[in-house]
Order: sequence, then C-alpha cells, then structure tokens
Amino acid sequence: MKKRTFLKLSSTLMTGAAFANLSSCRQEKPLSDLKNWAGNLTYSTRNILEPGTVEEVQEAVKKCSSLRTLGTRHCFNRIADSKENLISTKNLNSIVSLDASRKTITVGGGIRYGELCEYLDKNGFAVHNLASLPHISVAGACATATHGSGVANGNLAKSVSALEFVAANGEVISLSRENDGDKFNGAVVALGCLGVITKITLDLVPSFSMQQEVYLGLPMAQLENNFDAVMSAGYSVSLFTDWQTENINQVWVKRMIKADETYTTPKEFYGATLATRNVHPIIEISAENCTEQMSVTGPWYERLPHFKMGFTPSSGEELQAEYFIPRNRAVEAIRAVQTLKEEIKPLLMITEIRTIAADDLWMSTCYHQDSVAIHFTLNQNTDGVMRLLPKIEELLSPFGVRPHWGKLFTLDPAILQSRYVKLKDFKNLMEEYDPQGKFRNDYVNTNLFSAV
Ligand SMILES: Cc1cc2nc3c(=O)[nH]c(=O)nc-3n(C[C@H](O)[C@H](O)[C@H](O)COP(=O)(O)OP(=O)(O)OC[C@H]3O[C@@H](n4cnc5c(N)ncnc54)[C@H](O)[C@@H]3O)c2cc1C
Repeated sequence: MKKRTFLKLSSTLMTGAAFANLSSCRQEKPLSDLKNWAGNLTYSTRNILEPGTVEEVQEAVKKCSSLRTLGTRHCFNRIADSKENLISTKNLNSIVSLDASRKTITVGGGIRYGELCEYLDKNGFAVHNLASLPHISVAGACATATHGSGVANGNLAKSVSALEFVAANGEVISLSRENDGDKFNGAVVALGCLGVITKITLDLVPSFSMQQEVYLGLPMAQLENNFDAVMSAGYSVSLFTDWQTENINQVWVKRMIKADETYTTPKEFYGATLATRNVHPIIEISAENCTEQMSVTGPWYERLPHFKMGFTPSSGEELQAEYFIPRNRAVEAIRAVQTLKEEIKPLLMITEIRTIAADDLWMSTCYHQDSVAIHFTLNQNTDGVMRLLPKIEELLSPFGVRPHWGKLFTLDPAILQSRYVKLKDFKNLMEEYDPQGKFRNDYVNTNLFSAV
C-alpha cells in the first residue's frame, strides 16, 4: 500500500465514532481477504490496515483503541480476530540484515518462511526447522509456537533471538535473548498480545542438504516397542495414520546428508516398506503438492516442509486440531486416541504425529517438556468436529494435554490456564506493554482470562 493510501485509511479508523466513515475501505477488500486460509471463519471486521513501515504501524496502533495483528491467516480459530481493527503485516516483509558472523538474520515480521529460505540458502545458511508448509509468516508462526518435527528440534519460535514490536502506546520495544533474560522468553510466543512485531531476528545454522523417504505400513506394535528409535531415525520424522488399522499408514523420514555422504536407503523400516513413488499424506491426493521424496538429495527448505511453496498445502478445504503431550507418554496417548477410531473415521482426513524438543518460552506448548504432537486434519464439518474434539481432549487429559494455540480446541479455559505455569508472568508482561488491553480479543479473554 502506498503511504498516502495508508494514511487516508488510518485517519478514518480506530475510534468508535470514526467507523461510520469506513465504507470506502470495506469495498476495497475482496471477501477472500476477510476469511482465514481454510475459509472456515470470517474475521469480524473489515477494517484491515496494511502498513509498510514501522512508523505507519506506530501511527495505527496509537490511533486504535482495539486491534489485532494479522499474519498470513493460517490459524483455524479466532486467535487473530478483532471486532474493530486488524493490522496486516503483509507489507512488513523485507529482509533487513544478515549477520554472517553472529549467524542471525533480521526480517520484517510479515515475511513468509518461503520468501526467506532461498535467500538464506544462497548465503550458506538455514533455519533449524520448518513447519509442514512454508507459506506462513515468521512472526505469526512464532506467535503460536508453530513447529515441525525432530526429537532434537525445538519449535520455530525457539530460534528467535530478538524481537522489535510496537506496544500499545505506539512505542517501539526491542527485546533480545542476550539482554532481556527470562522476560524475552515471555515475549516470543505471545499470541499477538504484546504488540505488532515489526522485526524478528532468527538464529541460523549452516545450510544443509536433505533427502526424504516414505515408508508404508508401520506395524503399531513396532512403533510401541521402538517409539524413540523410530522418531529419531532422521533429523525430522513424521507419522501419518488414519487410525483404522494396526498399522501407521506412512512414516516420513527427513535425513540430513553431508556433501561427501552416500546413504543407501533401506527397503524396510521396522516392518514398514519403502514407498516406490512420491506420496501425499492423504494417499488418494496427488503428490504434486508435496516436497520431493524417494531419497533424492536437495536443499533443506525443499525437504523440511511436506508441501511446496507454489502449491496448496495439505488438502485446502479442511479443519485442523493438534494436541501436545509429554514425549515419554506418547505410546499410551496414541493407544488412547485409537480407542476413538470409529468416531474419528467419518471426520478425519489424516492424523500426523511429530516430536518437538522442550524450550523455555513461557507460553509455548512445549515449555519445559519434550513433546509429541498428535494432529488431526479434519473435514470442514464444524459441528461434527466440535463434538469430536472434547472426546479426544478427555482421552488426552491424563497426559496434561495442551492444544495448539492456532488450531481448533474446546478445552475448558481453567484447565488450559492451569497447564501454563508462567501464565501469571505472561499476564504481567501484557499489563506492562498493553495496560488497557488494546490487543486483547474474545479468544484471549476467554482462553487466558476467563475461568468458565
Ligand atoms: C495447511 C496448514 C498447515 C499447517 N501446518 C502447521 C505445522 O506444520 N505446524 C504447526 O505448528 N502449525 C501448522 N499450521 C498452523 C499455523 O502455522 C499456525 O497457526 C501459524 O500461527 C499461522 O501463522 P500466520 O502467519 O498465518 O498467523 P495468523 O493466523 O495470521 O495469526 C496467528 C497469531 O499470530 C499473531 N501475529 C501474526 N503476526 C504477528 C505480528 N507481526 N506481531 C504480533 N502478532 C502477530 C496474530 O495476532 C495471531 O494471534 C498449519 C496451518 C495450515 C493452514
């Protein structure tokens, strides 16, 4: 957006009385912009600003009495929603600086991983991990503790080493791991509650090559007896199952390959058989959207995600839910979910099971806990899904389940809050940077503040 247009829009925004003047702004937005990626929800306001500079963000935040920040709209629930104003970060997507000696990169909060990865690779660097898709914004992904897989890999937020955000009073705040200690750990997975992240600095690792192979039909008994070995068989390992048989449908193994290494891929893996063609996690869907498999070596950013940047990830018209439990109880939890297989069947497209290493980020789903995440890609039957999720949550309750912040869940807020031992400290941070609750919305008020 041109600066002049931004100013014109922003001058009509923000206070109750001014909303009447927004009809021109509303007409400019195509309906698709007002929905999330999956299309299962429409945001509650048409007031969407698209600032392109930190100053424009400051100006907007100062004028708004209530607002939320919008990344690439990939969450399935109303975490990013606002009834009054949304600040989109789509124009805050520049690469600010690469510090090769410190092995860090600073980027605009709205940049998508897919826009960043090729640049990093060309310069000899990589991020330590990626989610299943590269389409999501860096700040939006880190705000909800988005993750990939790998027993030694923390979630994406774990690599954040500094943040710049515009707090509720319009002030630009800079926090870093180096200078701000535990407070920084509170600010990284912040669910959009502290301000608009304008810049984010990530730790880098040297660029690396990977290969990916898929095994079909892993017997559940093998998984139960060898869970840690299976999940440690590669840099990143994902299991896909529909829960209907005594087999895990697919095992995706992503291996790091050194320059001079020749790795002979075994044809068998704990009783599972090597796939002889590229496959989609939902076997009926063409693998065209999927990253290269069949042990073909390639760059890290074309193997770590399951889905290619230029294509629709996953299935498209879907809902998602995901639950985190301690890794050392994974087998019990998987068995528990399997007892629900008949009820899951009509709603499920596919389940993915991944591992995530513990971190120190207060509101992270993996705070101080090596975790397993059990994910459900579900049909877009909201009523049916919302009836199913409490049953899954109840089965996972003995494991202290924490739901993904950006996906669907129904957990009682009081229980949810009890699962975050640093919640009180996080609320103190909210009080410090947003004393009037400008950045709070219904999702935040319900899940972090109400005790239903
Ligand atoms: C097909 C698909 C596959 C997915 N795969 C994975 C996966 O592999 N692993 C996983 O963990 N999740 C996955 N997700 C979930 C998704 O990645 C996360 O929910 C992520 O938060 C979405 O990022 P976004 O940029 O779209 O954020 P949005 O949905 O736009 O916003 C999410 C939150 O971040 C806040 N936010 C966004 N930008 C900023 C900013 N600049 N400053 C402050 N707050 C901000 C928003 O206010 C909101 O609270 C998947 C989602 C889809 C649709």
